Order: sequence, then structure tokens, then C-alpha cells
Amino acid sequence: MDDARDELVELTRQLIRWPTVNPPGDAYEPCAQWLGGELGRRGYTVEYHVANGRPEHTTQHPRVNVIGRRDGAMPRPTLHFNGHIDVVPVGLGWTLDPFAGVVRDGRVYGRGAADMKGGLAAAIIACDAVQRAGVPLRGSLEISGTVDEETGGWAGVAHLAQIGRLTSARVDSVIIPEPLNVDRICIGHRGVYWFDVITRGLIAHGSMPYLGVNAIEHMGEVLHEIRAVLAPRLATRVTAMPVVPDESRRATINVNTIAGGQVGHAVQSPCVADHCSAIFDRRFLREEGFDATRAELVEVLEGVRGRIPRFAYELIDRLVVHPVETPASSPLIATLRRGIGHVIGHEATVVASPGTYDHKHVTGIGGIVDCVAYGPGVLEVSHQPDEWVSIDDLVHSAQVMALATLDIVGDPRTPVTWPSQ
Ligand SMILES: [Zn+2]
Repeated sequence: MDDARDELVELTRQLIRWPTVNPPGDAYEPCAQWLGGELGRRGYTVEYHVANGRPEHTTQHPRVNVIGRRDGAMPRPTLHFNGHIDVVPVGLGWTLDPFAGVVRDGRVYGRGAADMKGGLAAAIIACDAVQRAGVPLRGSLEISGTVDEETGGWAGVAHLAQIGRLTSARVDSVIIPEPLNVDRICIGHRGVYWFDVITRGLIAHGSMPYLGVNAIEHMGEVLHEIRAVLAPRLATRVTAMPVVPDESRRATINVNTIAGGQVGHAVQSPCVADHCSAIFDRRFLREEGFDATRAELVEVLEGVRGRIPRFAYELIDRLVVHPVETPASSPLIATLRRGIGHVIGHEATVVASPGTYDHKHVTGIGGIVDCVAYGPGVLEVSHQPDEWVSIDDLVHSAQVMALATLDIVGDPRTPVTWPSQ
């Protein structure tokens, strides 16, 4: 692995140079094709899976996923490394070219360096190292580059699971090299509930507002109720899952968007607003569950209705992601813990992610419970200007992933040795 250090840096830089910005989903096809070429050159059988039928898969922005597979002596177990190739938009505040793959002071810089092109490159080099060491595989090895993780992953990992390609019928274990830090193993995430609240009023002349019902003011009542009643209650609930940062172990609610006025008109008018809509992001805990989360919200809204005359609202569910958690007995946790202890030199921390990632589809649709996130990037620099990944972390995470690969699909006749233990 030490010999492959430059190669790992170069692979990370090449991945960064594809501007796979999502939204809208730029350069997916050439990036997937290039990645397929890299995997093919390394001896993988390469498949492309286009997300046919998904509305976001268009001629202008095709959704193309790539999988490389290397068969061992037996088809199972199969260990699958999954990395998303999409990156979030660049945003303001950069001091260097986000798509050049600048190397400086022991770091590779660029959009996606941490989240998560560095992680994908590390997984590829980890598997290369096992092959170059001449270790025969007992089981099989797969590496995928998938799209749209940053916008929900429906044309990416969810699609692969739905078509039966990434399911427990074919794959036993999945490692997702998301940026959760080189010495941490991530076992899942809380639940997400996005919903719209729409308040409906009655239009009237703005000079005689008492003749109408103001939907914006009614939304104000909703916001007040959420802030004064619901939010303090949520703040008292703490999950047993090891979510980082610590503050994200609590249940939370955030209002994302608000718009009000006349239906269909973006400009102000001399009228009483008859329409207001707001979008909320509620992060719920495994211990709360979705049904109770939604019921509690309805109760809050009904409370407002009981209090405010002529209050009318609609609640529309936008997205529900259920919490996922890797079982504590997962062999992936055990092997990564051992690898981190050996390579990094201290005890691994088991964490849960503050946000969701493709784990939800791997387990929720694919039914694969043995899934974790482990990768080299630093969580806090993801999605930030001047995003970077440390080259030492790239190498160390690749070493840990290589050891996990040996453990899970390596030939038992060449057992993993742990020199320092
Ligand atoms: Zn990511």
C-alpha cells in the first residue's frame, strides 16, 4: 500500500477532475465510463446500469451507474464497496480551482475530495493491493460508482437495489467510504421526515383586511407552536445511537422554505394572502419511529386549529427515510475495528451519521444488513469551500479497507496476520 501512495493520490485527482455536480447531475456518463475503464483495466468485469424509467434520467443528464466485479473461488460471500460519484455544487468562498485536484501540504483539494471521491479511490487501491499481494479470493469483490446520493440516491443505489443488483440475494457486505473520519466506523443514521404545511385563508381587499383570512399570519401561528411547544419537547429526546456531532443525537425540526401570498403569484398584491406554504425537515430518532413522529405533528397542527378561528391547513408528506442501524454483531464492524486499531494505532470509534446516505437504500430496499460507512474524509469539510482529503488518511483508510477485504473474502489458507498484536 505504501508503494501505491502516488497512484492513490493520482486516482483521487482524476476523479475530482470530472465535474459531476448534482444538481443537476453533470458529467455522470463520461465519469462512469472512465471509472469503468479503470476497473476493467484492473481485471474487473464491468457493468453499466442506466436508471431507465426514473424522471431525473434525461438525455441531457443521463444517470449512469457502474459496477466492477471480480470473482473469487466462490460467488459468495460478496463484499461490495460503494461510492457515489456525484458532488454538491461548488458554492462561494473557494481559493483554488475546485476541479483541478490541487495537491498541497499533504492534502488533495477539490469538490468531492472528502465527499467522497477520495474514499472511492481508496477502496479501489485497497482492492488492488490485495490482488497485487497475490492473495487468492475465497469470495467475490465488487466496486460500484453510483449517482445522485446528494439528492436522495433514487437513480443510484436505490435503482441498483430495485433492479435486484444490489440486494442480499447477491451481496453480503457493503462498505461505503463516506467521509466519517479515518478512525470511525459509521453504523447508520436517524430518520428524516420532510413535509409541507399549507395554510389556506380568504382573499380580500388589503384596505379591509378584516374581511379576509390571512394565510401568512396563520402560518406564523404554526411556526410559533412548533417553536414554543414542539421544539422544546424534541430537545429532551436523545437517541441511544452514537450520532455525531453530539447535538445531533437529539430529535430536531427545521423550517427550510416559506412562501405566501396569492396562489400562483410571486409578486405582492393589495390583497389579503390566501395561501402560505412551508417545508419542514424533521429528523426523528429510532426510538420515536415515523408513525409517532407524524401523529405528534398532526396533534400540534390540530392544537392550532382548536385555538385559531378559521384556521385551515393541509399536511403533505414529501419524503420519509426510516432510521437504519447496523447490528452490533456485524462482522464488518469487527474487522474494521481491528484494522483501525492496527493501522491508526488507537481504538476505533463507532458513530452514526448526522445526515443520511445510501445506507438507507442498501438496507431498506436491498435488504443487506451488513453495511457500514468507513472512509478517509473529514466529515466537517464536506460540502465546504476548499474541501480536502489528507493523503495520509487516504493511505491509512485504504490499508484498513484492504485488511477488511482479506478478512471477509480472502482465502483462509492465507490468513491475515496482525504483526503488532
Ligand atoms: Zn457523500
